[in-house]
Amino acid sequence: YDDGYPTPLLSSRKENSMNGSDTVVLAISLQKGGVGKTTTAINLGAALAELGFRTLIIDLDPQGNASSGLGIHPPDDAPTIADVLRREETLDSIVEPTAEKNLFVAPAPTGQMLAEVEAQLVAEMFPQPRLKDAIDAVRDDWDYILMDCPPTLGRLTVNAFMAADAILAPVQCQYFALEGLRDLSEVVKQVRQALNPTLEIAHYLLTMSEGSKKLSSEVEAELRSAYGKKVFRSSIPYNVKLAEAPSMERSVLKHATTSKGALAYRDVAKELSHGRTPRIR
Ligand code: ATP
Ligand code: MG
Repeated sequence: YDDGYPTPLLSSRKENSMNGSDTVVLAISLQKGGVGKTTTAINLGAALAELGFRTLIIDLDPQGNASSGLGIHPPDDAPTIADVLRREETLDSIVEPTAEKNLFVAPAPTGQMLAEVEAQLVAEMFPQPRLKDAIDAVRDDWDYILMDCPPTLGRLTVNAFMAADAILAPVQCQYFALEGLRDLSEVVKQVRQALNPTLEIAHYLLTMSEGSKKLSSEVEAELRSAYGKKVFRSSIPYNVKLAEAPSMERSVLKHATTSKGALAYRDVAKELSHGRTPRIR
């Protein structure tokens, strides 16, 4: 299999799995702040949805940027991912449709509630697969589930790692980018031993790339030599349309449909879903 695309190990593994599910559950994670996790969750999600895949973004960041960036603002008394983590609501019952076809959000609460739930989860001696159980119950309803993780490796991220088939790590084209990846690899090793034996960092995505700059090309070359085909061929350029779109409460695909940012996320969606077709429902 060498047509230049990353090996579709995820989809083939899932297709062959016991329950025959080809749903892919990805944690979008890096403990470094501001590298493009939320931007990737929203716009890769939107691009997969545009290809016809039924896509769910789970907002696991107390900042709630993935929810608000798609125009989802749960009222104070509405159930959210915080209630799912408490095992008081099913995932189904909190999912909100966005204005974009095939794209749905499991919102984070506004305010401090998710941070409070995380603090409660720390009291568990062994992390319970709260989110995994919630996802397993609805897994077959979705083609892709993307979890937008906070920039910390606390219990919310651990919950995502227990539920994930794999991690997608956005890597900002900056110095020290690869150091953050070494820390993430360490955590993944520990999670594999104790909580999720098949977890891996399956995908690396270069973000905020300024192709003409020496630093960007150096980081890119270093990442590609370290991780090979796990790095998406398309990288995400620095593009102001990507930064504007959340204030318009929609993805860049709708905000600026022919912008470089929109085109790049469409390319990544094609690479990720290569060889798959949306299930007929
Ligand atoms: P946090 O760790 O705080 O959750 P994050 O990793 O989710 O951050 P984002 O919120 O996606 O990062 O991005 C950080 C900032 O950079 C945001 O203001 C976003 O709009 C902007 N941004 C992200 N990607 C790009 C890009 N490719 N071009 C221009 N701006 C971008
Ligand atoms: Mg974020």
